[in-house]
Amino acid sequence: MRGSVQLWWIGDQEESERMLEHVRSHLVRAFRTEVGILRDPRRPADSWDPRRRQHSSKKILSFLLEAGPPPPARVLGVTDRDLFIPILTFVFGEAQLGGRAAVVSTARLDDGVPVSPRVLWERVATECVHEVGHTYGLLHCSTERCAMGRSPSVRDVDAKRGLLCRDCLARLGG
Ligand SMILES: [Zn+2]
Ligand SMILES: [Zn+2]
Repeated sequence: MRGSVQLWWIGDQEESERMLEHVRSHLVRAFRTEVGILRDPRRPADSWDPRRRQHSSKKILSFLLEAGPPPPARVLGVTDRDLFIPILTFVFGEAQLGGRAAVVSTARLDDGVPVSPRVLWERVATECVHEVGHTYGLLHCSTERCAMGRSPSVRDVDAKRGLLCRDCLARLGG
């Protein structure tokens, strides 16, 4: 069995239990591993960048590694904080390639247009599979609808499914 994943809500608003369950079931299906939900009120304290008025996803990854479960468990933070990396306006998420930490933000996944929770959860789950896939060493994939496809916009996220294609599954080693 692959190393387990701990899902951790690290947002400012209250978590949606149903959203986390939705994400959890996608991760279990995609990676066939144990996925737990971590209950911990701690939040990254130093991720806010006053100049950008956004949160540094790098700092959040460091927090997750430090405060999260010990190796070999992976940790996926899900947050409502708006994330950036220096070269981009925003990111839906970030992961350590072949590492243990990943983060996904819900902040931009509604694209400024209110959508039903169901649509939002599906997008969050797809991006969670994507970022966790990077921690298992998966790179971007061009197979249609694969969760490892690049998705700079919400429209690209909607064009994917929250699952890995056959090639990516094979790269994972079954
Ligand atoms: Zn990616
Ligand atoms: Zn793929």
